[in-house]
Amino acid sequence: MKCLKCETELPEQQGAGRPRKYCSDACQRAAALEIKRLDSRIAKLERDESTWRVRGADGYAKNAAHEIKRLEARLVQLVAADAEGGDL
Ligand SMILES: [Zn+2]
Repeated sequence: MKCLKCETELPEQQGAGRPRKYCSDACQRAAALEIKRLDSRIAKLERDESTWRVRGADGYAKNAAHEIKRLEARLVQLVAADAEGGDL
């Protein structure tokens, strides 16, 4: 298991409890900021995509759609870790 933010190898889980997702409080906070950033980038890309589609720039629209998928996958990864408690 690696830190979702910096990919540092996390130490073996001791005893019971949820597995850790981040190596430090700083990484957990940085991940929360990344979620916000991803969200606004995705929103912008979605606007761009529809603009390009309307203009018939299918290549650009396709690239935007592809980028949206990539960012959403990352967003889901971070949000899922958060939903599981977000404890260190
Ligand atoms: Zn980390």
